[in-house]
Amino acid sequence: MKKRDRRRKVIATPVKPARRWRWTALLVAIFIVIAAVALGRSTRHAYSVLEMQCAWSNDFQQVFDQELLLNKYPIFEIQDRYNSTLQLIYQRYGSTLAINMVTAYCRASTEVLCGNYFTNGHPTVDIIIPKLLDICKDEQRKNPSGWRERMRFVLVIGFMHELDHLAFGTIAKEGDKPEPLDQLVNEEANVWALTCENTLAPLIEKYKVQLTAGEYTYYNEWLKAGRDKNSQSWRSFIRWAYRRTR
Ligand SMILES: [Zn+2]
Repeated sequence: MKKRDRRRKVIATPVKPARRWRWTALLVAIFIVIAAVALGRSTRHAYSVLEMQCAWSNDFQQVFDQELLLNKYPIFEIQDRYNSTLQLIYQRYGSTLAINMVTAYCRASTEVLCGNYFTNGHPTVDIIIPKLLDICKDEQRKNPSGWRERMRFVLVIGFMHELDHLAFGTIAKEGDKPEPLDQLVNEEANVWALTCENTLAPLIEKYKVQLTAGEYTYYNEWLKAGRDKNSQSWRSFIRWAYRRTR
């Protein structure tokens, strides 16, 4: 997914790890205060910035600060995929990755959890914290047992999907007009195929971790499509999944 229209304010400087490409990811913590006008079709919740910062630092920050960025994510295949896509992204864009934590919903749709684009000289991944908290609430309500662990996987899968976009998908620049639905479906069908094969498959098939229903839906549809990104059923599923984003 891509979305662009926000004002942003950097309040934390990039963390620049060691010398080689795999250490050169920038973790830029950006918290944005936007008096957002409700443009989405679905529910928006009003989370305070403090609430979002606390949730991020208590439940999610460690995935980046203590695991992926330090080459210490406990699942080998995910760390390996992170390292290889990061290398490709560096080669493709000639600059390091920036990661933004965004405190406003995507204006295009409240369904968007993560986004990617090229801006200010950096390939960038946005993580939409209000959407992340919405999914948290939903997971807590549906099944309180293990919801935090499931949510960390939601974040990691969403993040890895955006890296697949940046490494293999169409290069989107901040400010570009959203592409028409047909074009979006084509892009997402190709990129979700990569994410299913390289992120979801090891988590489900090898490690048998508990995920949320949304992730199982993608994975099961991928299997149903015979792991073929060009199959009609896969394209139809992706069109259905993205129906509310345009
Ligand atoms: Zn996508």
